[in-house]
Amino acid sequence: MRKVLYLFLIMAVVMMLGGQALAQTYVVGTSADFPPFEYMEDGEFVGFDMDLMRAIAEEMDFEIEFRDISFDSLIPGLRTGTIDIVIAAMTITEERARAVDFSDPYYVANQSIIVREDSGFNLTVLFGDNRIGAQTGTTGDLWVTEELYDEGILTGRVVRYETFDLAIEDLVNENVEALVLDRPVAERFVEARPLVLVGEIITHEEYGIAVDRGNEELLAKINEGLEKVVDSGRMGELIDKYFE
Ligand code: GLN
Repeated sequence: MRKVLYLFLIMAVVMMLGGQALAQTYVVGTSADFPPFEYMEDGEFVGFDMDLMRAIAEEMDFEIEFRDISFDSLIPGLRTGTIDIVIAAMTITEERARAVDFSDPYYVANQSIIVREDSGFNLTVLFGDNRIGAQTGTTGDLWVTEELYDEGILTGRVVRYETFDLAIEDLVNENVEALVLDRPVAERFVEARPLVLVGEIITHEEYGIAVDRGNEELLAKINEGLEKVVDSGRMGELIDKYFE
């Protein structure tokens, strides 16, 4: 009898170890300067996207490890395999979808324009000889470059920043006249700084979670997890937590 018990004990330990080894860990890249989607608080990754990714991993029984990378290095990171997943309030665009595969959309947003509160600038800041800032490689950057600068509407400069923290500092310090960025994030920055939102650009962008092109297995897990998070009501809770 003791022998049998002993055998069971060994089997249980082996099963536990096996189970641990089987729980796959994925490296998740983000650009943690984009509240309320992803930012750092006391050395922790926090925000809507971070909680959403944790919830998906929990539903689908895999482990994740976040890595903070500049926004324009996220897609190259997926391609070279230094990261497995990207969640970064990333808009699903045709061009990006040629390089990587996106999950089902999980959020919709527009672009917006912010200026200093005391500057007297309004929407017309985009037309003329001004310096307009955007984060490198974002849809805001593309919109300002293609729709305004290339068209000769903006005759000043497009100033590109690696992170939004730097862009916000430059706007506050009068080194640029305006910034173009996703509206939910702009709203967060104007609450915290002497800035004001003066216009919205209806781009109706859908955010998706990205994996390397052709990684169907991982994409299927993410989509299934996303669906479970929505169906269980956790998505609604996250929206209430970060957007109320
Ligand atoms: N949604 C924008 C984009 O995909 C901005 C994302 C970001 O800066 N994190 O380009």
